[in-house]
Amino acid sequence: MTTPALSWQQLTGMDESHLVDLPCGHRMREQAGQAFALLQTDAREAGFDLVIASSFRSYARQLAIWNAKASGERPVYDEQDEPVGMSSLTPAQQLRAILRYSAIPGSSRHHWGTDIDVYDAAAVSTAYQVQLSAREVSSGGVFDALHCWLDQRMQANQSQGFFRPYARDTGGVAPERWHLSFAPLALPCSGLLHGDLLRECWDAAGELLLRAEIEGDMAEIMRRYVQVPQDWCPAL
Ligand SMILES: [Zn+2]
Repeated sequence: MTTPALSWQQLTGMDESHLVDLPCGHRMREQAGQAFALLQTDAREAGFDLVIASSFRSYARQLAIWNAKASGERPVYDEQDEPVGMSSLTPAQQLRAILRYSAIPGSSRHHWGTDIDVYDAAAVSTAYQVQLSAREVSSGGVFDALHCWLDQRMQANQSQGFFRPYARDTGGVAPERWHLSFAPLALPCSGLLHGDLLRECWDAAGELLLRAEIEGDMAEIMRRYVQVPQDWCPAL
């Protein structure tokens, strides 16, 4: 099966025509959704109920999240799940704090229809509020067992094409064990993103807070927070 490359509008979450509806109500690209269904079946056999917490996110949604964090309307958390005192930081420090867990609008992997945040619904009650926090997925956390199983599958190249782009901390995006990416479709997308394309997006849509700070350090931000080292994908 050949899969067409995404247009720049699809790549940046401004166009949603690359997505299909999954039975769970989430949206992904068709091939990624099919692979996820296979991974869910594998997980079920191992005793896990692998569920999507977050899938596709549009440019408009990412912009709303970003601006709410930059303006202080929405809390920004650190790696200890503690709120960051944003008002006492310089704009450059505010930018770094947000970038630990949030992508700049247009650069989110959640725009692509290939990336999802997951948890194990069998490990918690239906009333449980999933946080997607470091505590939940670390050793002893409620979702640690699922992620240990996923680690084993990835190491054995039996994860149906999924890998963790934010597996380890290299000083950019914080480790996000819950974030899975479908390599066959996501790897080509990551090669298409560049600064000029993002600037075009930001011009085309509503105001992006902290834009001057981003543009002042664009190459470093692309390198540190947007590009994912290819060796993070065990399938390669
Ligand atoms: Zn994610």
